[in-house]
Amino acid sequence: MSEIQTGKIEEGVYLLRTPDGKDIAVQYTRGGFYPLTRQNLFSPSAAGGVSKYPALCSCTGKTAETATPLVAGETGAVCPKCGKTVPYVKTPADYRAEEVERKRQARENLRLVPAGMTEDFGMAYRLTTRLDRSEWAKIARYMLYVTTEDSMGMDADDHNLGWVTFYPREVEEALGITGDRTVAGQREAAKRRREAPAEVRKRAIAQRVREIAHEIRETGEKPSGLNDPAGDRLFDTQDIYGGGDWFVAGPEHLWYVQNNGMDGDNWGYNNVRTGGAGAIGYRVPATSPMAAELRRLASELDALPGGL
Ligand SMILES: [Zn+2]
Repeated sequence: MSEIQTGKIEEGVYLLRTPDGKDIAVQYTRGGFYPLTRQNLFSPSAAGGVSKYPALCSCTGKTAETATPLVAGETGAVCPKCGKTVPYVKTPADYRAEEVERKRQARENLRLVPAGMTEDFGMAYRLTTRLDRSEWAKIARYMLYVTTEDSMGMDADDHNLGWVTFYPREVEEALGITGDRTVAGQREAAKRRREAPAEVRKRAIAQRVREIAHEIRETGEKPSGLNDPAGDRLFDTQDIYGGGDWFVAGPEHLWYVQNNGMDGDNWGYNNVRTGGAGAIGYRVPATSPMAAELRRLASELDALPGGL
């Protein structure tokens, strides 16, 4: 049995790995591990709320009243009854170290990017990360806080810009931004990327894939019920927030599936099962020439330099 060290371990966010291999972010507080309501594993925070019940071990029962709350051990959350340990994958110290590293990288990649076009002063640029006070002092005189209240001839869809500059070269010089990170360098690099043959081909493939998606939506059927399309997933952009889309090329049908699981989506339209709230699917017979074309485009894209 692992040593139990309640009281010694720091309160804060831990990442635990459950026996079935899933990572779960929890807040360690009041001697218990409370799962976070929002499982954003990149930068988890208890600010979004925590579960009412702490992590429990079912060795003494399967209800909230009879199961045993896990307590803090040296290397994991431990059941004081049976000794089962759910290891820590990350501790609050690990998350702090990641934050420091993120800031360091953000500073290393610091550059100016377009923030909005004004009629009176041209393009406004903003910095990609916050600066500390001493660095800010070097550029403060080139920076301007712009809101929609300021009439600069901005387009109506330009929202509040915040801190921007109209003197990109001066700011870059003061902060030591050089080479590919300068506005001019970024523009050059973007142009090189855009004109590379592989990129041109990738855009054509993406365009054709959108057309195929459109055609399946227009000409396909939308079967009722909750379906589990079988086959190969192609051009999959599904994300964990309930967004994205994909195709499923199967023996019977070619499906086009649009994820429809975001907060605010109307889940009542869903006819395809996903890990989340569901998706909307249209299908055409697998004999459609679009099925073979999609497979061909997918393997062509795989083979292009730079991959997806
Ligand atoms: Zn137990």
